[in-house]
Amino acid sequence: MTKINWSLAIKPLLRQYKGRKHPLEYKNLYQLLVMVVLSAQDSDRHINSLAPDLFNAFPNMKALAATNPESLFPYVSRIRNFGNKTKWLLEIARQLKTDKGIPLTMDALTALPGIGRKSANVIMREAGAPAEGIAVDLHVLRVAPRLGIASGTDPKKIEAQMMDVLPQAMWAEAGMAISFLGRETCRPSEPKHHECIMKAHCAYFKSLHGKAIQKAAAAKKPVAAKAETAKKATKKAVAKKTTASRKK
Ligand code: SF4
Repeated sequence: MTKINWSLAIKPLLRQYKGRKHPLEYKNLYQLLVMVVLSAQDSDRHINSLAPDLFNAFPNMKALAATNPESLFPYVSRIRNFGNKTKWLLEIARQLKTDKGIPLTMDALTALPGIGRKSANVIMREAGAPAEGIAVDLHVLRVAPRLGIASGTDPKKIEAQMMDVLPQAMWAEAGMAISFLGRETCRPSEPKHHECIMKAHCAYFKSLHGKAIQKAAAAKKPVAAKAETAKKATKKAVAKKTTASRKK
């Protein structure tokens, strides 16, 4: 199989989604951090719908640091795992104190409770900080192995494999671009291969395409064999006729 140069192959995808804002509708870095923590194992749409009330009540890190779990619960209680997320947010607010205290490096972000590599990568990309990794969300986890740019199911290993084949300058955009491809085109069931910008390089698409060709070839085989037999019979009949007419 030909080895794919991913830094070239992924360029059209990066162009398509370059600079597109994350689907979380945040208005500043504080809101982004809070929404990223809340959105783990929940949907961006759900968090977007709850965010305006939450940020009216707690407009910045200082306000969040001054509150207690009971005051936060009414705004987050419909969010998955809200108990732990409340604890994490209040601890983050106590540590950072103000919006200006929000760090933008992988080490400092992942040292905060409730923030893993994926969240840190998203925050750093949205804030325009230099990328230190590639955000692997649920969409990337599904699409990257389909594409063949990575394999397995472990987000850390998938991130490492992608970091290996892509230059650092592409890291920030690559995660989001593959995520957007997964949200819009490469859906979990019935991916829209026909409109996919990556199908020329996609391992999954090639495997489907390869199978279709094999199937078509197998279906054609008996027809071809029949045609060959008929051809031979005609040849034989013509030869017989020619010999007979010569004898006359
Ligand atoms: S070609 Fe199909 S499987 Fe491959 S990335 Fe595109 S939509 Fe997904």
